Amino acid sequence: MKKGIALAVVLGMLLCGCSAGQNNDKTSKADVSVQSQVSEESKKEESKLPEPESRDVFAMDTYMVLKAYGTNAKKALEQAETEIQRLESLFSVKLRDSDISKINATSGNPVTVNVSTRTAIAKAIEIGDMTDGALDITVYPLVREWGFTTGDSDNEPSYKIPEQWLIDWHLGNVGYDRIILNGNIVTLPTQFEIDLGSVAKGYATDAVVQILDENGIDSALINLGGNVYALGRKPDNSKWKVGIQNPLDTDKVICSVSVENQAVITSGNYERFFEADGKKYWHIIDPKTGYPADNGIISATVIGSSGLDCDALSTALFVMGTEKAIDFCKKHKEIDAVLVTKDMEKIYVTDGLTKNITMEDDLKYEVIKR
Ligand code: AMP
Ligand code: MG
Repeated sequence: MKKGIALAVVLGMLLCGCSAGQNNDKTSKADVSVQSQVSEESKKEESKLPEPESRDVFAMDTYMVLKAYGTNAKKALEQAETEIQRLESLFSVKLRDSDISKINATSGNPVTVNVSTRTAIAKAIEIGDMTDGALDITVYPLVREWGFTTGDSDNEPSYKIPEQWLIDWHLGNVGYDRIILNGNIVTLPTQFEIDLGSVAKGYATDAVVQILDENGIDSALINLGGNVYALGRKPDNSKWKVGIQNPLDTDKVICSVSVENQAVITSGNYERFFEADGKKYWHIIDPKTGYPADNGIISATVIGSSGLDCDALSTALFVMGTEKAIDFCKKHKEIDAVLVTKDMEKIYVTDGLTKNITMEDDLKYEVIKR
């Protein structure tokens, strides 16, 4: 059984720290650290920068690295960590007292939740509508049936290919449009369960950015297990460079993108997966089939101003598959995207990104024109 590691490799700033890896297996911190792919040139560039304030956080089953510059940086990062822990206590499917656990345990009955939980669920429903149900947080019973439960780091994962009748049975209890949201009161149909694995880190990203902002921080790089947000610019006034992992060789990157005040969030089939009978099965489930989404895309990165939107959309584009994801990108100029197809046959890049992308190893891409 193989362990998947997820990260958007951050070029430059992570020189001095490890990249955060998302991992649901019982693995030590050292095991999930991955050496960033940093060119000698950017190493030299980075060594000229002042030391940032830095904080490593383990939450939401992932290692997070927060780095910020400025007089209030230490205090801001402390507050950020507290906020991340608070969000985890609300969103976790594992903690019994979390809002999500209460909703799942009480399905059929109304549950009053925190405003953060309400906001995250509302966004998931909105993106579910926008993506024709590709994002569907009620797919959780299937995620669990395949053994891809999030928030289960105390136990060995129990990956398995479920029997078809079980998949069919669970599919009968999937449908985000049946979640009833009334103010802060959430009601699921009986048997339904949800998880916010597809949006939680994006939500946390925005919450951290807001805290940094309130503390007057205008230069920071936060990496919540591969969900990256670049706040402002580097102290030398250049843009941050964020690497996008090579889905076929996760020690490498396929490209780096130069960004400021933007989230860079990837959903990939290498993050959490197992192999059986020579076939790979991963953690992003197609709500139409109940199987791991296998519609041509193996990695979808979304770049935009909102971490929550980018997180929700990267999962959705992955599920939608090549044609639909390209169509979606054509209609939504507010985001940029990098889509990698099966076997890395093609890399698609939206036109807003072409000036800010540097490909590795002479890799070629096709432009999605808008
Ligand atoms: P991400 O890594 O952001 O793409 O989110 C993947 C996580 O979201 C999985 O580990 C599941 O917990 C959950 N998930 C899987 N498939 C879906 C889906 N189609 N819609 C919403 N959430 C999903
Ligand atoms: Mg996501």
